[in-house]
Amino acid sequence: MATADPFENATRQVNDACDVLGIDDAGLREYLAMPNRLVRVKVPVRMDDGRIRVFVGFRSQHNNDRGPYKGGIRYFDPEGGPEYMEREVMALSSWMTWKCAVVDVPLGGGKGAIYVNPKKEGLSAGEMERLTRSFAHAISEVIGPEKDIPAPDVYTTGREMTQIMDTFSKMSGNRRLPGVITGKPIPMGGSLARNVATGLGTAYCVREAAKVLGVGMSGARVALQGFGNAATFAGEYLEKQGATVVGASDSRGSISIPDGATMKALEDWKAKESTVVGFPGSKKITADELLTSKCDVLIPAALENQIDADVAGRLQCKIIGEAANGPTLPEADPVIHSRGIMAIPDILANSGGVCISYLEWVQNNMGYYWTFDEVAKKMEEHIVRGFSDTHGLSKKHGIDMRKAAMVLAVGRVVEAFEHRGIWP
Ligand code: NAD
Repeated sequence: MATADPFENATRQVNDACDVLGIDDAGLREYLAMPNRLVRVKVPVRMDDGRIRVFVGFRSQHNNDRGPYKGGIRYFDPEGGPEYMEREVMALSSWMTWKCAVVDVPLGGGKGAIYVNPKKEGLSAGEMERLTRSFAHAISEVIGPEKDIPAPDVYTTGREMTQIMDTFSKMSGNRRLPGVITGKPIPMGGSLARNVATGLGTAYCVREAAKVLGVGMSGARVALQGFGNAATFAGEYLEKQGATVVGASDSRGSISIPDGATMKALEDWKAKESTVVGFPGSKKITADELLTSKCDVLIPAALENQIDADVAGRLQCKIIGEAANGPTLPEADPVIHSRGIMAIPDILANSGGVCISYLEWVQNNMGYYWTFDEVAKKMEEHIVRGFSDTHGLSKKHGIDMRKAAMVLAVGRVVEAFEHRGIWP
């Protein structure tokens, strides 16, 4: 995939939304597509053996017309090298702008990265901490609770978020500034419900889709691709709505469970065997068979590029809840739409994570913390409204939900831009 330019892809989606919105002004289109600022930094680290190593880091700040930039920091080594990574963070920061706008949280889009694979390279805890603090120092001028609020992403966790917060606070005259970053552990100012956020948000979206399609959730059959954070909480909350899991998968393989299984039984099996494969009463199937199995709800919650036009033509579900980022290829969208299947796009279906990141930041700023149920309820309001607004535009323009979500998001950013104008 390293040859495809992800930023070109993101730009195409902005232009498609502009077509629907009747935005012809080439300058405005360029304004919407381009990041406001792209920072490329040198990240020097003293390694355990005494050598100095210089890493390359990025922070792309796409758009802040609706609020401070928001988006993860990943440590990864994509095939195309740092040049590809630069284009990737530009694209990912653009998608964050649209994700925040769809669910109407007052934040913009950002994304950061260091070109390193800590797992492959076996970096020690000390090297990881020095790398993280060096990067925090390098981007300290462009981040801040009112400027740009990073979060965890691939190979970064609450530990790295705490180190970034601590570095930034110490560099700011020892001020307490938990709102500079989200995804923190609870004792560091993290939010309750953050761990379940993505899967819970997906389950809310599926519930709303089922309502408009007239699909009953009681007894609905669910197939989960992936069995990590997003998939398991989506499964658990769909089960609470009355659904039954009839298919699941992980990196070791896929299974069908004709009589269905409880999430608890599947999770217990996975905890014991490190895979869902071999679950009593299940049959091993291929990944393709899982995706095209007969079910009401399909939750791709593992990898990108899973549903192409061929798979789309053979799907047997009624609703797809894209917990994963980018599980559907562009050529599959018209096939899915024409077959009357509702695909809830990733920027909406997995936005529970960013909604609760926003709520974490709000709690940090006011210094008062909500209960799990309060946080979940506030997140539900954002997601349900995002779904309903997206669905309304999809009906109005006769377009699929993915395009409608982009139309909604781009329209909201244009509105904010028009209020602000250009200055100086
Ligand atoms: P995770 O690491 O917890 O789980 C990933 C799961 O995918 C694991 O169960 C793994 O076994 C499985 N997997 C890996 N290769 C597979 C394969 N070939 N076939 C089937 N399953 C395979 O990750 P996660 O946090 O659940 O993220 C999953 C997806 O959701 C990613 O696309 C991620 O970008 C997206 N997402 C997650 C969050 C979040 O807050 N966790 C937020 C937004 C988007």
